[in-house]
Amino acid sequence: MHEVTNLNERISENITGKYYVNYRCIGCMLCSEIASANFTSNHLEGYDYVYKQPENDTEEQLCIELMDICPVNAIGNDG
Ligand code: SF4
Repeated sequence: MHEVTNLNERISENITGKYYVNYRCIGCMLCSEIASANFTSNHLEGYDYVYKQPENDTEEQLCIELMDICPVNAIGNDG
């Protein structure tokens, strides 16, 4: 298991790009349910992560909304 010293750190599985999930994620799986084109779950570790960056407006809009919806503010965007 990855040793986490900073919860704001990006989960290592995130694909390169502006959207990411950090280790604050509590694995509620909302993002992988709502935006399955971009987020998926690591059930073993209990978190979701970005496996594909948004490639169109619909996907981008969902990612933006999820940044508000996530209960622990674990989704970031450094774009
Ligand atoms: S919505 Fe937030 S807490 Fe829930 S799985 Fe996604 S990143 Fe994790």
